[in-house]
This record gives sequence, C-alpha cells and structure tokens, in this order.
Amino acid sequence: MTRHELVIVPEGMIPGLLTREASFDAVEKVFAAMASGEAANFPVVREAMPTEDALYGFKGGVAPGILGLKAGGYWPHNLERRGLINHQSTVFLFDPETGRVKALVGGNYLTALRTAAASSVSIRHLAREDAKVLGMVGAGHQATFQMRAALEQRDFEKVIGWNLHPEMLPNLQKVADEAGLPFEAVELPGLREADVIITITSSFSPTLMADHVSPGTHLACMGTDTKGKQEVEAALLARATVFTDEVAQSVTIGEAQHAVAAGLIAEGDVTPVGAVINGTHPGRTSAEEITLFDGTGVGLQDLAVAASIVETAVADGTATLVPL
Ligand code: NAD
Repeated sequence: MTRHELVIVPEGMIPGLLTREASFDAVEKVFAAMASGEAANFPVVREAMPTEDALYGFKGGVAPGILGLKAGGYWPHNLERRGLINHQSTVFLFDPETGRVKALVGGNYLTALRTAAASSVSIRHLAREDAKVLGMVGAGHQATFQMRAALEQRDFEKVIGWNLHPEMLPNLQKVADEAGLPFEAVELPGLREADVIITITSSFSPTLMADHVSPGTHLACMGTDTKGKQEVEAALLARATVFTDEVAQSVTIGEAQHAVAAGLIAEGDVTPVGAVINGTHPGRTSAEEITLFDGTGVGLQDLAVAASIVETAVADGTATLVPL
C-alpha cells in the first residue's frame, strides 16, 4: 500500500502560492473539460443557517484527476462582530481513484482569483484583438481582482468605470495606477467607449442597458450568481452572442435567466465558453458582433485552482503533510 498523506494549505499561505497565470490555466482547462463532457459539476447545495443570518453550502464536481467540493458561504456579521471577512470557504479534494481525502485548501483568496480567471478566459477567447478601452461596472472586492486579470489579456490603453456608490471608484483608480493606465469615471452611457466591459455588482435590477453598449464589445457579466440578481438589460442578451461557464446555471441563476424567462433567447442560444476553447464553436465571427460571457461560478473552477495550489505547495515544500 502506498503511503497516503493529507495535504493542508491554509488560507494565509495562498496569496504567496497562487498566481493569476496558474488560476487562468486551471480555469481554462476545466472549462474545456466541462464542454467536452469529461468534467461535471454536482448540484449545488445552499442552505440558510439557524444563526448569524448565514448562508452555507457545497459546490462540488469531478474532472480528470480532480474530485472534491468547496464548502462555504456568507456570514453577513463576521466583519462587524469578529473582524473576519464575511465570505468564508474551504476546498476539500479527494483522490478520484479511491475516494480518500487528499487535501484541505483555504478557499477565500482562491475564490477571487478563480472568478477573475473566468472573465479573463472569456476575454482571451472572445474579445476583439484590438480592444483598447476596458469598462468596469462595479468597484467592490471582486472588481479589483477582475480588473488586474483583464488588463493582462489585451493591450488596454485606458480604463473607464461606473459604480452605484461613487465613493468606491478609487478602488478602480488604484488598480489603473498600478498598471500605469489612465482611469476615468463615466456615467453609464459613457461605457459605449469600451471595447470590453466587466460587470461585477450585487445588483437585483439592470443597470447597464442595451444602448450603453457599442457593436463589437465583449462583456463579462460576473455578478449575477443567484436567482433574482440582474446586472444588464435582458434585451442586451438578445443582441449578443451569449457564452457561459455552464448553461444549466446560466439560464437559472445567471444573467441569462431573465432573457430566457422573457422569451428573448432560448437555452440553446447559450454556448459553453469551453466549446470555443476546444475549437468546436467559432466564438466571435466579426468585429461588430457583441459577445457576452455569463459567468455564474462553478465548483470545478475552485477545485481546479485548489489542485494547482496543492501541486505548487507540495513541489516547493510549503504544504503541511499529515500522515493518514
Ligand atoms: P462587494 O460587496 O465588495 O461589492 C458590491 C458591488 O456592487 C459594489 O460595486 C457596489 O457598489 C455594487 N452594488 C451594490 N448594490 C448595487 C445595486 N443595487 N446596483 C448596482 N450596483 C450595486 O461584492 P463583491 O465581493 O465584489 O461581489 C460582487 C458580486 O459578484 C456579488 O453579487 C457576488 O455574489 C458576485 N460573485 C460572483 C462570482 C461568480 O463566480 N460569478 C464569484 C464571486 C462573487
């Protein structure tokens, strides 16, 4: 029998171990595997907790060499009552050949990087090569991660942004400064100047309208991950070619839920971005086409990135190994 060890990589070590590039590669590969049928996400469990107004759940899946789940959720009073961040999660990985536990990996920082990697993958595969202006809708915690990752995908020359709460816009200015790019706060119609737009808000009604978007734009709509949330006007999806991480989620909890419910598009109009990565869908076919990626967030993104962290931590000797 081979020696078996549990690998532990705690939250505090992950920023030093996980790069944007590794997150991108892991997410791109797993999206491709999902589209070719080699990988599948399990149904999501999400439950209200009896205390602290918390929501807790599990997102799991299986892919070549990867089996596991992310357990976690949202504790809205953590910050004010305990000085802890409100989103808390941990990834558990298992050996797909035997079912034995393999690793425990902190899931908080990982979630931000895997979400940014998803929109980045969509930008790499769907945005025009000559995209110059990045537009941001949203300026919260995820927005800064999204922006840093997106800026690596094209030779952007400028960032423009809008946020419901303008006092948060300096978060975007700071990332633009780091990248040495000018940043301009705009009203929503000003986003017509953007070649790529990322929406990452917790909005429950559309803010970005179809006529705020110019022909040829690529959009990554990343904030809508629950029934009822909505960031963009449903008519925009009817004008666009719509891609997603997972079609079943896109039409139920993603941005496409509203356009499908209104009869503007059908489930069959939504394509997994993995099909573009695999070359079974052509992706963007003209410079005028609007492409829209509906990023709903799947468990396999977390598991793939966690597996990559484990590999790095074991290789460089920083992981804690516990004999089983
Ligand atoms: P945050 O609380 O740090 O920021 C929220 C942002 O939404 C801010 O820019 C805020 O101004 C804006 N906002 C709040 N209410 C709004 C409204 N009514 N209309 C328009 N804008 C509004 O949150 P965050 O951590 O940056 O997360 C943003 C969103 O992304 C959340 O909805 C979260 O659930 C979602 N998310 C999605 C994924 C995914 O995989 N798709 C992953 C993580 C988070």
